[in-house]
Amino acid sequence: MKVLIFGAGQLARMMYLAGAPLGIDVQAVDVSNEDVVNPVTKDKLPLSLAEALDAADAISVEFEHIPETLLEQARLTGKLLPGKEAILTGADRVREKRLLERLAIPNCAHRIVDNVEQLDQAVDALGDKLILKASRDGYDGYGQWRLAEREDLPALKQTLAALDLKKVPLVVEQMQQFERELSLVGMRSKDGQLKFYPLAENLHHQGQLHVSLAPAPDCSDALTGQAQDIFSRLAEGLDYVGVLAVEFFQVGDQLLVNEIAPRVHNSGHWSMQGADTCQFENHLRAVCGLPLGDTQARGANVMINVIGYDGLDLELLKVPGSHLHWYGKSVRAKRKMAHINLSAGNYKQLGEAMLALADYLPASHFPHVLGEGKKLQAR
Ligand code: ADP
Ligand code: MG
Repeated sequence: MKVLIFGAGQLARMMYLAGAPLGIDVQAVDVSNEDVVNPVTKDKLPLSLAEALDAADAISVEFEHIPETLLEQARLTGKLLPGKEAILTGADRVREKRLLERLAIPNCAHRIVDNVEQLDQAVDALGDKLILKASRDGYDGYGQWRLAEREDLPALKQTLAALDLKKVPLVVEQMQQFERELSLVGMRSKDGQLKFYPLAENLHHQGQLHVSLAPAPDCSDALTGQAQDIFSRLAEGLDYVGVLAVEFFQVGDQLLVNEIAPRVHNSGHWSMQGADTCQFENHLRAVCGLPLGDTQARGANVMINVIGYDGLDLELLKVPGSHLHWYGKSVRAKRKMAHINLSAGNYKQLGEAMLALADYLPASHFPHVLGEGKKLQAR
């Protein structure tokens, strides 16, 4: 079988590596030039986009910011999974908010702003602790601005004056106080079967995911049920096929949806060693119409992103249960270069392993490892 993925980054690469043992050949489209490439070597393959679309058994995406003309081309083949509407919804925060409202799914208080002058009304309605997000093309904290107090509003307006808000409106959200961030990665098959990985707890730094812990500790059945119910309503509402990720803020016992990602997700990378079937294989299984694999976690797992750093000491592999997955990219600030997965029998052992790992990871680039390791070790 052949699966064509729009986007040729690390997620397509990990799908390729998961597909090979199943005899699924994953090809990627570099959307900047429409070249069809091998997702690992990035070598250009000797076929045109039209030929690759034609040859594919299924077409999917590794990220949501795909030019709409390309998505339409893929949709017309009848092989695009998830569908165009789901991908466009994940790519556009305004559409996403509308979907959440339509399905009555709790999310952060917000206003849609397509003119800087409306910011005053947004502050009147929401208060002056705000996060402003470009509706499209933002990721990893890019395309976001924060307001801490009203007197900073004129300066912020000046910054935003350069943007065309009529074309790309802002979603202005209240800065939410929350206990923690969680995500649910799961999948829906062509015949509507749903499966979920356990909730992951996600630690961010400067708007970027750094650490995911799975299963997230201290999740009641009610909390997990709430997350799975929201996921099901979204997946069914979008007639979704494939892996979907839903990011949440936990506020007391309530989950607010932060955003959805219509694809495999960074907070699911732990599943490569920590679950029976990883998210990449399960995505391929879902879009190819194959039976879905088991999603249960084995023991306690943490995924640590290696961001803007390539000085890793490979001696870190001495730490039992550690695995390094390098994406083969040249180093740049804020760029996700690799991740380290670490698995142990329980949280306490995982904490001990994290402390051992912390010796190899400078706190400047790995701000959560030591502190989180200590917390888990003390359980
Ligand atoms: P991205 O597409 O960059 O992941 P998100 O909307 O998920 O964009 O924002 C990135 C991070 O910024 C979140 O994971 C969270 O830590 C923080 N954040 C986003 N929105 C809010 C909010 N309304 N209140 C508090 N923190 C937020
Ligand atoms: Mg996010």
